[in-house]
Amino acid sequence: MVSSIMPNYKRFDLAFTQGEGAWLFGTDGRRYLDFGAGIAVSSLGHDHPKLVKAITDQAGKVMHVSNLYRIPQAEALADLLVENSFADSVLFCNSGAEANEALVKLIRRAQFKNGHPERTRIICFNGAFHGRTLAMISATGNPAYLEGFGPRVEGFDHVAFNDLEAVKAAITPETAGILIEPIQGESGIQSATPEFLQGLRALCNQHDLYLGIDEVQTGMGRTGTLFAYEAAGIEPDVVSVAKGIGGGFPLGAVLAREKLARHLTPGTHGSTYGGNPLACAAGLAVVQEILKPGFLEHVRKTGQSFGQMLEKLVEDYPDVFSEVRGRGLMRGLQCKIPISEVLPAVMREGLLAVGAGGNVLRLVPPLIVSRAECQEAVNRIGAACEKLTQPLSQNQEDRV
Ligand SMILES: *Cc1c(COP(=O)(O)O)cnc(C)c1O
Repeated sequence: MVSSIMPNYKRFDLAFTQGEGAWLFGTDGRRYLDFGAGIAVSSLGHDHPKLVKAITDQAGKVMHVSNLYRIPQAEALADLLVENSFADSVLFCNSGAEANEALVKLIRRAQFKNGHPERTRIICFNGAFHGRTLAMISATGNPAYLEGFGPRVEGFDHVAFNDLEAVKAAITPETAGILIEPIQGESGIQSATPEFLQGLRALCNQHDLYLGIDEVQTGMGRTGTLFAYEAAGIEPDVVSVAKGIGGGFPLGAVLAREKLARHLTPGTHGSTYGGNPLACAAGLAVVQEILKPGFLEHVRKTGQSFGQMLEKLVEDYPDVFSEVRGRGLMRGLQCKIPISEVLPAVMREGLLAVGAGGNVLRLVPPLIVSRAECQEAVNRIGAACEKLTQPLSQNQEDRV
């Protein structure tokens, strides 16, 4: 018999009663170091006083009014994002998939309004992940997500990641834009090279295409800059964010330049919840923290140290790990042992992490994590490795 909650997730048999900073307290009575952060969401960690206060204060005033009225919390958050990014205008929604849907609608609508109704196709990448709506499973570069869900939504062309020649070859008179994650998260922390991102920018300029960047996982400080694309020294036309921006409260956003945003006139798009006072109060508290002097520098420094600790770990356990991937506090360890064994092993040591494609252990702690907590996480992974490799080396001895 099916459970009352649908069976679409493979869950660990563990729940949590409360959290504090980078720590979660399990119903099993144990304390866990949270390097999953709800899949790169809890950017300020758990029970952050500013975020809790913003949400409780706003909940006691007014949670929701709909977009029939002005929403000062949304206006303040949009102002802050515009002041601190390439964008001229912001659209709020509730999730990453929804943000990417709106990003694609913006690109198509702008091409249409510019006299190019034939330009509807978006170039995407093999291994990409853009969400689970009907259109976004077609934009996602992994056919597994499509199985059994009927005809794929037309208009998404996939090419090899980091292959500029392949992108050039895929551009047709129907191409409207490009959508890319600066670091592919779900498929195993694969970074786009700066040259590739610069090449995409140049191609978009040359062919009048819009460059869309999916920063749902990489954005809001995760890699040490507000957005990951900044490391390549480029400016996009439109960016989607979600995950970290609400710090745990569901919130997504699309940031765009005026040339795109001005075409989203009344009636073209909407969402009942999108950008409601409660969500935007949460987002405002999170973004204000991230933009405080020193915050991103903390992410850069801690992320760099964490990277060095992980490099050492790979050296120490060459039978378990082959390489460190990623940047800042978005890291992956490519495993030689099945991730289905590594993940429970680190959990037994009291560390929460997330699996990713390509047999990768994904480590995406809250951005407020300390260097000492990173070292503690690495120690715990090391302890898990000792136990994972023990029977293995005994077997090897047996064989000799
Ligand atoms: C998680 C993720 C999404 C989907 O976000 P949801 O909030 O789950 O809809 C889209 N793009 C990227 C890069 C993601 O990591």
